Amino acid sequence: MSAESTARVSLRAPLTGVMVPIEDVPDPVFARKMVGDGFSVDPLEGRLTSPVPGEVVDLQPSRHAITVRSAEGLEILMHIGLDTVRLGGDGFRAHVSEGQRVGAGDLLIDFDLDDVGRKAKSLLTQVVVTNTELLSAIIPVTGLVSGGIDEAAVVELKPLEESTQESGTAVDAASDALVVPNPTGLHARPTATLVALAKQYRSDIQLRRGDDSANAKSIVAIMSLAVACGEKVVVTAHGTDAKEAVAAISQGIREGLGEDCPTLPSGGVVGTEDTIPIPTITEPVAETAGPRSGDWNLLLGASASPGLGIGRVVQLHHEDIVVEEFAEDRHKERRKLNSAIDRALLDLSALQKRMSEEASEEKAAIFAAHQEILGDPELLDLAASAIDKGKSAAFAWRGAFNAFADQLAGLKNEILAGRANDVRDVGQRVLEELTGQRSEKGELPENTILVAEELTPSDTAQLDRSRVVGFATTGGGASSHVAIIARSLDIPAVAGIEARALDIADGTLVVLDGSKGTLRMGVTDEEVARLREKQARMAERKAVEEAAKDEPAVTTDGHRVTVVANIGGVDDAVASMDKGAEGVGLLRSEFVFMGRSTAPTEAEQTQIYTDCAKALKPGQPLVIRTLDVGGDKPLAYLPIPAEENPFLGVRGIRVGLEQPEVLRTQIRAVLASSDAGAKLHVMFPMIATIDDWRRAKQIFDEERSKVAAWDRVSVGIMMEVPSVAVMARQFAAEDGCDFFSVGTNDLTSYTLAMDRGHPKLASQVDPCNPAVLALIGQAAEALHERGKWLGVCGGVASDPQAVPILVGLGVDELSCSIPAIPSVKAAVRAYDLSTCRALAEKAVNCATPAEVRALVPVDEV
Ligand code: PEP
Ligand code: MG
Repeated sequence: MSAESTARVSLRAPLTGVMVPIEDVPDPVFARKMVGDGFSVDPLEGRLTSPVPGEVVDLQPSRHAITVRSAEGLEILMHIGLDTVRLGGDGFRAHVSEGQRVGAGDLLIDFDLDDVGRKAKSLLTQVVVTNTELLSAIIPVTGLVSGGIDEAAVVELKPLEESTQESGTAVDAASDALVVPNPTGLHARPTATLVALAKQYRSDIQLRRGDDSANAKSIVAIMSLAVACGEKVVVTAHGTDAKEAVAAISQGIREGLGEDCPTLPSGGVVGTEDTIPIPTITEPVAETAGPRSGDWNLLLGASASPGLGIGRVVQLHHEDIVVEEFAEDRHKERRKLNSAIDRALLDLSALQKRMSEEASEEKAAIFAAHQEILGDPELLDLAASAIDKGKSAAFAWRGAFNAFADQLAGLKNEILAGRANDVRDVGQRVLEELTGQRSEKGELPENTILVAEELTPSDTAQLDRSRVVGFATTGGGASSHVAIIARSLDIPAVAGIEARALDIADGTLVVLDGSKGTLRMGVTDEEVARLREKQARMAERKAVEEAAKDEPAVTTDGHRVTVVANIGGVDDAVASMDKGAEGVGLLRSEFVFMGRSTAPTEAEQTQIYTDCAKALKPGQPLVIRTLDVGGDKPLAYLPIPAEENPFLGVRGIRVGLEQPEVLRTQIRAVLASSDAGAKLHVMFPMIATIDDWRRAKQIFDEERSKVAAWDRVSVGIMMEVPSVAVMARQFAAEDGCDFFSVGTNDLTSYTLAMDRGHPKLASQVDPCNPAVLALIGQAAEALHERGKWLGVCGGVASDPQAVPILVGLGVDELSCSIPAIPSVKAAVRAYDLSTCRALAEKAVNCATPAEVRALVPVDEV
């Protein structure tokens, strides 16, 4: 740097590349200068150097962003690429550390331009002065600049008097304690908003959390506080406009600083560290949003595992562990952390072994994944860097795993949100090892309904099945690990329940309906008696259904419907046979690819598909869906750039068409398994256009032509994008297209334009919406004209209430969750075809899903 005068600072280009105006960066946080003012560089080489002499004041653990403070106090943040925090440091190497002094042109970070470019949304590197109150202007150059050599911009500083001058009398002001409602805490976006707000005031403003405090006008300082969701902060100010500043910032924090935040229950939120105790109340408390059902006693959520549980609430909290914040000897703290991690690894490997013996390989795999999390370099880096700053091992670890989990949860997709829960679970395990404190509840009373923010896989695996009759969590979704375990243990469960469930006092009598996704309070003894009778009747009926599980599903007038299973692997294939499945209608092959650090080889896949086929009876169908991952369900080893709208982006077959070798390997593995006994079918997910189908089919044909199995495997389409249902006639006419199966989970979501995992919208994503049923009915008609069959493999196929309507619409095959098979078969047997057709006719003419469901009262099924 050369300070040409006291009022001007020259910034040297930190990279070789082309200058880009900051306003053109495709990220509003930078383009709207919420982080600060500056410029962007489109880099031609991966070497980031310091634009000024100064001190490194922040180096992010994932090494994608660094801040240097100049002698004049300018804090210059350099952020390599967009959304690169998600790369977890992969491809970046830091050459400096926090606190180090650097000269202009000194190398700070080098990064692999090709690798990062492939994985990141953009390589544009932002260079911004974050403390804009010191600036009167930044004047960037244009065109090509040479890193470390050329001048990239001139910063004009405000005259000293102007930036500090105040008129009036300085006063002190402080806010009440404010609970941060942002789901991922004060990360970059809300912090940018907070800082922009603070900068509108002349006063000195601090954000405090416990004993920590940060300058509210510094992004770097606030981000370093790492304030998590649910933590309490206080805003203090000193200056002539201190009161106004505190009022405005407090309001901003309460309103979520521009983010859409869930409503907090009064008195606190879902707890994390340092949190607010959750009051145990039985009386209704004032809640801004009020009960979603309109009835205080009825709490709504999503069905995670069917069944009725009647019992008394036990709240399960994990936030009780108390830790010291600071420690003297960082070497000792590092050793403590390492040995706690080692002990946790031992426990996990024992738990994995026990699950594989007592439950299944699939459940055991969850604990194998936990062991992998404990080796994650980003997580370990986060903890190590906090220890190096003087924090105790426990404090550093707790902050690290919560921040890491928040980061995952903040990506807003079901699979990663589930992963966040795993991170918290395994994090808690290590924390307990570190502190010797356990947050267990001791022995649970009989007929317990557990209520928690999240139940971790460890909680569910260790549940005393004889005492827990149901559970409800405010987090999680139908596809979370917890839901999978609940279904396999056959415990009724509700996910995504209203947050006020956490306020229900221990011991309150409640009824949990896992099928409807509800929890009801205020139940009388008479009601309980009536429900227990109903439970007994349900148990009787279940026994009758189980006894007939191996009989075919034929309507009273002789119309047969094939009832098959949705599976995730070999264990499920075996289990499905025990429940009377007539084959497999959907093998979600992504389960074969998940929880690993490299893709399964062709030989490994062949083994798995062969084992699944052998588990079935000879000739039974086995439908293998090709890999259904993408922007919303990433795999670490499959580079797919992050996307703005992952559900509308490169997912499903679009990944296979972009990376054909992945698809080809999978097809070869299926073909190689085709003589194992079952009748194999390949099904392509997320087909939207005829062109998608033709390209996928061509790849299939090319691979099939190389082997002798050409006639043994049929090929079909997953109908989950409305275009396929609308154009069923044209798709059915396509050469070699043998069958279709409706993925109602996605079809409903795309038809209604509602994300199926969206916390506010998910309850409306009901496949019994007449629009969805009409699409299925019209597709069935078009396909039957061409002699093609139609299955349904989305969740609605497991819903006995929907079964007669689906049969009436012309669905030939129902592919359901394994435990639902006997009841789905029974539901088919309860009707004649003409009644089913009449119900279907009425259903497509209904106005709402509720009207549709009223056509088939639950008690009738
Ligand atoms: C569906 O979309 O209905 C379906 C079965 O696929 P998945 O739930 O795996 O997306
Ligand atoms: Mg789908």
